[in-house]
Amino acid sequence: MRIDVLTIFPDYLAPLELSLLGKARRDGLVDVRVHDLRDFTHDRHRTVDDSPLGGGAGMVMKPEPWAEALESVIAAGREELGDDAAPLIVFPNPAGAPFAQATAQSWSQRPWLLFACGRYEGIDERVYEHLAARGHELALASLGDYVLNGGEVAVLAITEAVVRLVPGVVGNAASLVEESHSDGLLEYPLYTRPATWTAPDGTVRAVPEILLSGDHARIAAWRAEQSRLRTAERRPDLLAPPAPGDAADTAPAS
Ligand code: SAM
Repeated sequence: MRIDVLTIFPDYLAPLELSLLGKARRDGLVDVRVHDLRDFTHDRHRTVDDSPLGGGAGMVMKPEPWAEALESVIAAGREELGDDAAPLIVFPNPAGAPFAQATAQSWSQRPWLLFACGRYEGIDERVYEHLAARGHELALASLGDYVLNGGEVAVLAITEAVVRLVPGVVGNAASLVEESHSDGLLEYPLYTRPATWTAPDGTVRAVPEILLSGDHARIAAWRAEQSRLRTAERRPDLLAPPAPGDAADTAPAS
């Protein structure tokens, strides 16, 4: 899988070198390229923003560097991946479709993701229109119903959720199967040794007996029930039928 990221803060993406993601890169499972949007400006100050037309607070990202940067990154990717290669262009955006595990599953099967990190009040709307008119596939993805300063943190979260689902990245693929949200439920409670633990306040806490029984069928049934109970208690919304538009794979530009 190839991942390109366009940002005005390339250093923000340094954690992509760490942990499982860093190992996936070193193992050749993902090819991550981070690009500085300011490299696609042509003035002394490397300007990427201007005041909003129509008035209002804050600044808006200018269309020229974005169009040039996106087209340049796509052209460079096509040189390596082939002329037919086409990225899914992901714009982290609080007004986008909620990014969910189903989205991560779907995107983990894509050969090429291109992330465009907004800053300030966001990106000039005509960039989305231009890309859509040129036939590119766009997705606006929200990390949640709150506002971050920029798309970089969202890219780190989305990339981690997506890349761990790429075959070979997580050593034991079975560990991905029963996780929270993989089947629409939250994961059951987890325990490890010692089976009987004396907490610092002197309380003795034992794991549920069934986990020591060796009866795998009964353990599986217990875990399934715990998953259901936990989901009903903490996230009853997950047990309700999905609302139209939830966990959308791609979203229209506007
Ligand atoms: N003016 C925008 C609005 O009201 O919708 C918020 C802009 S925000 C300060 C700057 C950038 O942060 C956005 O363009 C987006 O890239 C990113 N961002 C902020 N919140 C986000 C979220 N919840 N999910 C994904 N990206 C987010």
